[in-house]
Amino acid sequence: MSILPRKKKSNIPHLLGYTCTICHRHFPYEEELLTCPVCGDTAILDIDYDYDIIRRHVSRESLGRDHTNSMWRYKAFLPLAERDFTSSLRVGWTPLYRSIRLEAELGLKALYIKDDGLNPTASLKDRASAVAVAKALELGYDTISCSSTGNAASSCAGNAAREGLKTVIFVPERAPQGKLAQMLAFGAHVVSVVGDYRETFNLSRAAIDKYGWYNRNAGINPVMAEGKKTAALEIAEQLHFEPTDWVAVSVGDGCTIGGVYLGFRDLLEIGLIDRIPKILGVQSTGCSPFVDAARDHRPLRPTPENTLADSISVGVPRNPVKAQRAVSASGGAWIAVPDEDILDAMRVMGSAEGIFGEPAGVTAFAGIKHALAQGVIKPGETATCLVTGSGLKDVVNALRAAGAPIRCLPDLEELEKTDLIARLNS
Ligand SMILES: [Zn+2]
Repeated sequence: MSILPRKKKSNIPHLLGYTCTICHRHFPYEEELLTCPVCGDTAILDIDYDYDIIRRHVSRESLGRDHTNSMWRYKAFLPLAERDFTSSLRVGWTPLYRSIRLEAELGLKALYIKDDGLNPTASLKDRASAVAVAKALELGYDTISCSSTGNAASSCAGNAAREGLKTVIFVPERAPQGKLAQMLAFGAHVVSVVGDYRETFNLSRAAIDKYGWYNRNAGINPVMAEGKKTAALEIAEQLHFEPTDWVAVSVGDGCTIGGVYLGFRDLLEIGLIDRIPKILGVQSTGCSPFVDAARDHRPLRPTPENTLADSISVGVPRNPVKAQRAVSASGGAWIAVPDEDILDAMRVMGSAEGIFGEPAGVTAFAGIKHALAQGVIKPGETATCLVTGSGLKDVVNALRAAGAPIRCLPDLEELEKTDLIARLNS
């Protein structure tokens, strides 16, 4: 059982409490629970809301009048006490682009790309970190900590720096340099763990227990998925509350896809949408515990972590229940794509749309292509692809995907000897 040490009565009217995702017991919101007091450390909680209260505060009209260009336009949906967020980093309200060129090429009726690489620390994880930092402040912590394959950590460090919190980060030693540089630049205390993500996670958990820091680990802390759900709230609002047939999300720990489902569920509960889009969970064939489990109709088993998409290279996902529910409750599907197709997706999204995603960031797009080829998504349907992180996070793989520049001496005659003009005309 994990209970955060500072106990406090809820002063958040729209929060009812928690429900365990395993035993479905309900717990009142009297203290900050992390996991189920009955089932133990692996039993993640859902946060329950009083939708009547949210419905009283939020409508299409109220959102239409709201000029907040960040995720805080949805604070009525979040498990946080009322406060002014205007001085926080500007997280969320990222663009949703329609891709006329790619939708025609793929045979979709419409394809939208939600570019969450444009968040302040260049990944969707800012949404979770912003909520975690706000919650840590609300509860009186001065230090926040997490383990991460990179993006959760850099977003935690950035958002915490802005709010004056200290940060302790545990990363596996394979974390890409771009992400590492971010964390260090944000002033985090970074521990590079000689081991894989599972070992990194376990060390962070032991240290957090020992030193009493605020736990930002997405697999455990239920407020993380709540922050991530704002991506779904935005997608729906940006599509005038008529979401596409499918929403594709790359999956590592399972927290992001779990959060995306929660966002659509909230909107359905308060009557702002009339159906939840089918959610496509996309993994790399090099690390696909969810896809394997779904295909073989069995529980998840630990798998090797053999993908260049480091953000979704998670052999032992910490948030399996919410991820599996996202796909099953939405009538969606699981699909795995090889790393070559992830690199191809980087090239295609970059050259066709000017959107530069990291490997895990474009995995959802590769998944849409595969789902169409396999008949999971039908021609003529509509889809949204969630880009979860910027390509600048992982320049080594970006160069692997994009190829090399044309080398040339500084002379026009030399330039004419190259294939530049042939390439331009091809
Ligand atoms: Zn339980």
